[in-house]
Formats: sequence, structure tokens, C-alpha cells
Amino acid sequence: MQVVYHDVIIVGAGLAGLRAAVEIAGKHDVAVLSKLHPLRSHSGAAQGGISAALGNAEEDSPEWHAYDTIKGSDYLADQYAVQVMCNDAPRAIIELEHLGVPFSRFSDGRIAQRPFGGHTRNFGEAPIRRTCYAADRTGHVCLHTLYEQSLRKNVSFYDEFQVLDLCRAEGAVNGVVALELKTGKLLLFHARAVVFATGGYGKAWKTTSNAFANTGDGLGIALNNSIPLEDMEFVQFHPTGLYQLGILITEAARGEGGVLRNSQGERFMERYAPSIKDLAPRDIVSRSIYEEIRQGRGAGAMKDHVFLDLTGLSREKIAEKLPEIESFARIYLGVDPAKAPIPVQPTCHYAMGGIPTDVNGRVNADAEGREVSGFWAAGEVACVSVHGANRLGSNSLLDLIVFGRRAGKDINRFLDRVCLTPLPLATNSADRAKETIDGFQAKKDGESLASVRTGLQKVMMEKVSVFRDKQGLSDAVGEISVLQKRAMSVSVSDRSENFNTELLEAIELQHMVNYSKVVAVSALQRRETRGAHSRDDYPGRDDGNWLKHSLCFLEKDGAVTHTHKPVDLSLAETRAEFVPKERKY
Ligand SMILES: Cc1cc2nc3c(=O)[nH]c(=O)nc-3n(C[C@H](O)[C@H](O)[C@H](O)COP(=O)(O)OP(=O)(O)OC[C@H]3O[C@@H](n4cnc5c(N)ncnc54)[C@H](O)[C@@H]3O)c2cc1C
Repeated sequence: MQVVYHDVIIVGAGLAGLRAAVEIAGKHDVAVLSKLHPLRSHSGAAQGGISAALGNAEEDSPEWHAYDTIKGSDYLADQYAVQVMCNDAPRAIIELEHLGVPFSRFSDGRIAQRPFGGHTRNFGEAPIRRTCYAADRTGHVCLHTLYEQSLRKNVSFYDEFQVLDLCRAEGAVNGVVALELKTGKLLLFHARAVVFATGGYGKAWKTTSNAFANTGDGLGIALNNSIPLEDMEFVQFHPTGLYQLGILITEAARGEGGVLRNSQGERFMERYAPSIKDLAPRDIVSRSIYEEIRQGRGAGAMKDHVFLDLTGLSREKIAEKLPEIESFARIYLGVDPAKAPIPVQPTCHYAMGGIPTDVNGRVNADAEGREVSGFWAAGEVACVSVHGANRLGSNSLLDLIVFGRRAGKDINRFLDRVCLTPLPLATNSADRAKETIDGFQAKKDGESLASVRTGLQKVMMEKVSVFRDKQGLSDAVGEISVLQKRAMSVSVSDRSENFNTELLEAIELQHMVNYSKVVAVSALQRRETRGAHSRDDYPGRDDGNWLKHSLCFLEKDGAVTHTHKPVDLSLAETRAEFVPKERKY
């Protein structure tokens, strides 16, 4: 089997992976592997913006930003990590600008900023304009800029290579097994450091804002290698997906003045979050929408959605600030947002949980924080944890840029320190990958890939959604266990070697059933309501028992075991503002 060597292998060409690559390039030999062309990564779909207390629109401070992030996380975020992120944010934005990101500007030339959910001034007083943006194409311009910078710095790219497994020697990670989509060939990539920046996992739910490729491969591969996942029960539903499609309408639409209305035309968020109304954090707004629907005030014949009303904004403002979403509403629903409200419903959007890391992206192997040597993770696949139980809008792009860079810096330090010879490459993971592939192709009349996947998306949507309870979650765990077995016996009828997408999807499905099981088990065992995890049978937050992170492992037989680790409350030790308290907006 062909073996390729680079000092550093980064898996994933979204903003987290590219930011890490730019940091390492020029210092060490770095390659980026991506199952998509880099510019198709989901980061390019990010619309609304990236937060930083620049204070361009009004007075602001990183401390207020940290307060909002911690309160938004329902106090589950690790406070030191949040402090690191918020303090670094203004620098990170200026750096992006210098790299070439064409941010929208105020008339005096400074980078423009807009309000976003949960971002406030002076410890919760009123909404603040903190989110930097480029119209509603912020992710697109950031991704293009970092890709251009990566090319300029001669990062090696392996586009359309799907990573199937990690290679490990003496417990350390020292490479990956990848399948080249064009040829169907398996290759081994040997390295001294490996970074996972493989993004989110929304595709396990029926209604999602996520791209087709967001199948949580990095999470599945970590689980297969006995690496735990942290806080997986916290899955964010964004309040405003296009009705029945789930395509995202950015929170910036509300930041720019849009309001949510029920079937009676009432601006219902005034009742749920009197101080910041439609700009409350996403967990609260999504729950409020479902509450309206439950109480019979949903819109349409099915009474199953609400409206996002932008008719109070001028056509010019919509064209300047929200051109993409204007076209989405028009193309997909035939609605002109300047004239009529847009039908919306919550859509599965973001993974707060992921591979546990420290603030330098180093992957933790257990609750005690022991490192997996040679292995880093950054971006949505990682759990640092800066988002805790609920992420604030525009804090993800910031997380990618800040912690992608920190992982890159840490790897540079690591490579300067360790000996030049990498650990010898073990080939057993390649054998494992080959066995899996042969297994799929040898089966005749096995399970249908589409039916297992649809089954999973249905269970996750119905039973592991915004509102949860013991019965639903127990049923979900049982049903997913069956789906895990069925996913193993999927047959792949396509025998071709070139672009065999059926085979690739069968592999992705195995990751999907495994991390979904972890989500359901974590959600079942957390007997409280916190952030995006809302239990009908345990409606209150229970800091006495549950102010702790969940950590789950996948056993060889597909079972999930769990343990916990403490939340870092270091800011609360000296400042009353950061002490967990009731979360009111
Ligand atoms: C529609 C939408 C709008 C959003 N808007 C905003 C916003 O305005 N502000 C904000 O802060 N956040 C926003 N978010 C969230 C944010 O965009 C994501 O969290 C972020 O882009 C994830 O970036 P990433 O670098 O971690 O991964 P991604 O950008 O998802 O990239 C993942 C990469 O991993 C690669 N990959 C995955 N699996 C494999 C494999 N097995 N082998 C090889 N390569 C692999 C993919 O090819 C891809 O290159 C939005 C999300 C969505 C879905």
C-alpha cells in the first residue's frame, strides 16, 4: 500500500483546519486531507458573522463577551477556555482582515458589527452590536481567504480523500488511512502530528441546516479508537430553518430587525425573553417556538411552524445586509421577504459536544485529561469546551479561528521539541478499513443504506430533539442499537472503483449510528434541563448533581459507557458575575 509522509496531517479543510494549516506552513511540512474540495466545506455556508468585542459600534469588552458566552452556555462552558477565546477575538478579527477577508464596513471605514442572539452589553443589560460580518456570506469569504493563504504558503492539499481511520503506535497517533475518491485506492498517511477538523454531524437528523457531508466522521473514528466524546447530549436546534427544508435563515435576520410571529401575528418572544426578545439565545427561542406550536398557535394547516417577519425592513436593507437569505426564501418557498413573512421551524444546526481537547487542541483520552499523544482536534468536531450546553450565534466561527491557530502553534512547539523520526507506522488500521470495505461489497441482499439512514434520521428527529423525556430517549437508545446492527449489514451493490459514493455513504452511516447512540445515551443519563438539553421529566437545571461534563466511550460491542468530568469555574472564583445563577433574559 502506498505510504505518503508529511510532518503534519490535518483532516478537514473548513476554517478550523485551514487556520491550523496556515499557522504551521512555512515551519513544518503540512498537508490537508479533505473528502470535499476545500471550498465546499460547511464553513463556507456560515452566513451571519463572527463575534469579537471590537467595540466599533458601541463600547464593548472581552469580559462582557465572556459573560454572555458563559451565561449562554447555561454555565457548562469551561471558563478559562472562554476567557482565552474572548480575549483573543479582537486580534483574530484584525488578523483575518489583514489576511484579506472583505468585511462589511461602517461609513467611516471600520469593520461593521451587528447584534446577535445572547450578546449583550454590561453583563446582560441590552443587546450589543458585536458580530462582524460580510453581508450574509461571512463563512464564504473567510473560507476563500484562508484557502488562498494556504495555497500561497504551499500547504499540500489532498482533495477528495476520505479518511477512514487513525494509525496508532505505542498509543500515539501517527497517521491516517484514507480512500482516494477518484480511484478507490486506500493510502496510508504517515505523520508526526494529526489534527481532526472534520466539522459537525447534523446529518443524523431529518431536518437540518447542515451540508450533506456533515456526517460526523471524526467523531465516529475517535469512538472506534477508544477516544471519548464530551457533552454529546447538547445538540443545537437553530430557531429559523426554512419550513420543511431546514435550510438556514441566519440569526442576523433578527439582528437586523426581523421578528418572530405566531399564527395570530403576535410577537411571542416578548413573553419568553422580555429583555432581549427575538435576540435570546437559540435554545430559548427554539423551545419557545415549539411551545407556541404545542399551545395551538402554530401557523398553516398543520399548525406546525411560525413566521419570521422581515417586512419591517426596507427592500434596500434586505438587499444590502441579507442578500443570500432573500434569495433562499424566494427560490425555495416562493416568498418575497420584503412583502410577506417567511415560514420557519427549528432545524438541527450545531454540535456543542465533540472530541475533548484542552485550549491548545490536544485531545484528552479520559476524564483526568491524559493526552492522546500526537493527536489534536479543532473546530466543530472538538469540545474545548467554550459553548457548554448552548452556543451563542457567531461564536463558532470565532472558535474555529482562535483554536485552529492555537492547535497550529502547539504543533509547531511539539515538532520543535520531539525527535525527527516519526514512530513506525502500524498497518493494522489499513487492514481494518479494507475488511470493512470488503465486507460491504461481499454482502448480497443486505440492508438498504437509505432505509437505515432514514430510520436513524426519523428516530433522532422525533426522540432526540428539542424536547426530550425518559420514555422517548430509552426508546431511541433501543432503536439505535438495532440500527447499529443493521448499518453493519448494509450491502453496497456498486462495485466501481471511481467515485463510489455508495460505499462512502455506507462508511459514513456507521459513524452516524455510533455517535447518535452516544447522543441518545448521554441525553438519557443527564436528568436535568440545561441549555439545548430540555427534559420534560426534569424541567429544572440541577447544579448540585449535574454541573459537570459528560464523557462517553464506545465499547467494541456497540454499547456506550459514560463518566463525568468537572467544569472549570475559574472566573467564578474571583468574580460574582461568573457564578452560575438562574438564566433569565
Ligand atoms: C448553514 C450554516 C450557517 C452557519 N452560520 C454561522 C455563522 O454565521 N456564524 C458562526 O459562528 N457559525 C455559523 N455556523 C456554524 C459554523 O459554520 C460551523 O460550526 C463551522 O463552519 C464548522 O467548521 P469546521 O472547520 O469545524 O468544519 P467544516 O467547515 O464543516 O469542514 C469540515 C471539513 O472536514 C472534512 N471532512 C469531514 N470528514 C472527513 C473525512 N472522513 N475525511 C476527510 N475529510 C473529512 C470536510 O471535507 C471538510 O473539509 C453555521 C453553520 C451552518 C450549517
